Formats: sequence, C-alpha cells, structure tokens
Amino acid sequence: MDNQNNLMEKIVALCKRRGFIFPGSEIYGGLAGTWDYGPAGSLMKKNIKDIWWKELVQLRDDIVGLDAAVMMNPRAWEASGHVEAFTDPLVECKICHQRFRADKLEEIASHEETHKGQKVTWTEPQKFNLLVKAYLGIIEGKQSEIFLRGEITNGVHVNFRNVLDSTRVKIPFGIAQVGKAFRNEITPGNFTFRSREFEQMETQFYIKPDGKEGEKWFEYWKKNRMDWYLSLGMRQENLRFRDHEDNERAHYALAATDIEYNAPWGWQEFMGVHHRGDWDLKRHQEFSGQNLTVKDLETNEEYLPWDIETSAGVDRSFLFILVDSYREEEGRVYLKLSPKIAPYKAAVFPLLANKPELIEKARGIYEDLKKDFMVAWDDRGNIGKRYAAQDEIGTPYCITVDFDTLKDDSVTIRDRDNAKQIRVKIDEVRGYLLDRIK
Ligand SMILES: [Zn+2]
Repeated sequence: MDNQNNLMEKIVALCKRRGFIFPGSEIYGGLAGTWDYGPAGSLMKKNIKDIWWKELVQLRDDIVGLDAAVMMNPRAWEASGHVEAFTDPLVECKICHQRFRADKLEEIASHEETHKGQKVTWTEPQKFNLLVKAYLGIIEGKQSEIFLRGEITNGVHVNFRNVLDSTRVKIPFGIAQVGKAFRNEITPGNFTFRSREFEQMETQFYIKPDGKEGEKWFEYWKKNRMDWYLSLGMRQENLRFRDHEDNERAHYALAATDIEYNAPWGWQEFMGVHHRGDWDLKRHQEFSGQNLTVKDLETNEEYLPWDIETSAGVDRSFLFILVDSYREEEGRVYLKLSPKIAPYKAAVFPLLANKPELIEKARGIYEDLKKDFMVAWDDRGNIGKRYAAQDEIGTPYCITVDFDTLKDDSVTIRDRDNAKQIRVKIDEVRGYLLDRIK
C-alpha cells in the first residue's frame, strides 16, 4: 500500500510539474474539489473527448450529438428525482463513500458488515442536497432558484422529441453528449477522482421496450465500452466489470454495470452502463405533459422507448489512463500514452540553441508538422533534459536536428518507449509520424 500511496504522490507531483493538472484557484488557497487542467492536461483531455466523439458520433450512423445547457428549468430536476432524492439527511461511509439515509439503521448496519472486520466510521448526518444551487434574475429578492446540472443525462432526455422530429433517426438510436456537471460532494478526494465540478461523456441509446432487446443492447454496450478503453492502451489486468447488486442500483435502473480501474487506492468505478428502462422518458412525459412516445411503423403501436445509457467520467478516465501509463524504467520516468491521447505527438529540437543554421532547419520541420498535429518545440538546456521533459508528458517521438542534418538532410527520431534512435530523411518525417500516431 505504501508503494501505491507513493505512486499517487508521484503522479500528483508530475501533473503539477508538467502542466497536466493544477489545484483550482491555487493562488487563493484553492477551492476544495475543483481542478484546473494545464497546457498538457487540456490537450490530453480534449484528445480523450475527441476520440470518444469520433468513434460514437462520426463513425456511427445510429448516434447523433447534442450539447444541452448546463442550466435547466427546475421542473426537469423534479422529474428526474434529483430534488426529492438528495434532500434527505445523509451519512457517508468514510471507507467507500457510499451514502445512506441517516434514519435507515438496518441499511447502515448491513453496509458495515460488507467491510468485513474493518472499523467503519460515518460522517455526521447532514441535510444534503447534491445539486448545486444558483440564482437567476437581476432584482434582489425576486431571483429564482435554479440548479447547475448534477448530471448531463437530463438535457438529453428533455430533447428526445426535438431530436426525433429534426433528424432521420429511428429506434434503435442514440444521443451522445459531453459536458460539465456539478455536485455538492460531501468529501471530495483522491486527487481528481471525486470532484465537485467534473465532465461526463454519455450516450443514451433508445431501444424498443422489450426484455430481449434490453439484454442484447446492455451486453453490446458493456463490451463496446470495455473494448474502447483497451484500444486506448489501458492494461487489461487493471480493468474489470462489476455488476451492481439489486440493493445498490439507482432508483431507475433495471440493470447496471461499472467498469472499474485497479487504482492505487483500490478498484474504483469510472464508467457505467445502465439499463434505465423507460424511467426518464416516462417521468418527463408526466411532468411536462408532452407526448414522448414513438410510433412503430410496422405495427402502428405507440410506445415509450427504453434507454441503455453509457456514462463515463472524463476526468476519471483521464486520471486512470494517466496512472495506467506511468512507467519508471532504468532511472527514466515516462508516460506510455497511446499516441492518440498524448498531448503532443512529437517534439522538435535543434541540437544547440545558438546555431542559427540548426534553428532554421528545425523551425522549418516544426512549422510543417504542426499543421497536422500538436508538436512541441524545445531549445533549452541539453538534449537529455529535453528528452526527460517530453517523456514525462508522454510525447511519443522526439526529432533532433544536428550538424549531420545540414549535410544529409536527415534527422534523429527517438522513440519514447525504448529510447532507440533512428535516422530519417526530412521529407519522410511527416509520413513516418502519421503512420505511427493514428
Ligand atoms: Zn462503505
């Protein structure tokens, strides 16, 4: 466990040192549960979201995108059950952070038994609203209270009819969305894992209300999402499914599975697949008075579709991809990030910073490559230090222009993972890189 704590300390320090993640509003002493992504972190986070979007929206015919507002009519949160469900006095298990109604003594006792032999302590009961309140309106005293969204799902369901009427989608189809959500977490912690402001990427996949269909698509999305994380280079032994027990499923879920990561502090959920049935559409139909049914073109029967949801934390995916990629080998620290995810795909160095002919040559390569992808430039210090800096942000390839370049128009390309170097003709560099970073 000490090694593991040690690992998290190293990762937090690396994130600060290399510009991945900074504590939120740090110069004012911070704001608990908020984080700011730096130059390297913002690039990597964007890459994760872009790859996700490309695979689920661009490459598929049966999913369309949406970008709903963070602020919604408060009735939407009544319909979704959030207003009601999160205003009870709650206590939170300090070991696993599960919350229980303070008056459900049996549930609390049986939960303690699940931590076999461990001493379980609880937070004091608090009247707890997970939704973050905000106020709209300019006249003091006449402002209306609204909520910042506690999850991004609701903005999709309330647009179900709009999407259906404005596109050519037919059941089964999905709506994808990426965006921020806000929660009054009692105990933020474990670096960015439990934050008060975070980003989600979700698909709501609407299907016919049929048991077999439900099972089929639930299994389909489980496998699809696990395969996606594996395709990003995460190690299989660090990923697993965990099905929710009957008593831990959310009020709406017919079936639910988490994908968990073997984090330094234990297995932790970072994405879920949820069979939500018709719970959301039914509630929004009831609370809005609008008809949200679809018509089966063959049977003319009208029905409310079921929803199979995939819901991933962007920040949690980021954190675990980063942790999973961390390597210390032969005194060298590097991030073995998939080139698709790495903030920069390549770095270009002139061997010496005070030789104009080297600078000019290197600058030309840099300007050419950055039209196609993110490229870093570094002419400070010695080559060893530049390699170390790029290794720590996971840059897969470093290109050095040296004195031989001036004679043979070739450069050295150094591979992050094995530190091996090869010579490549300048006019072949772009193709060499593109073949390897796709
Ligand atoms: Zn617990």
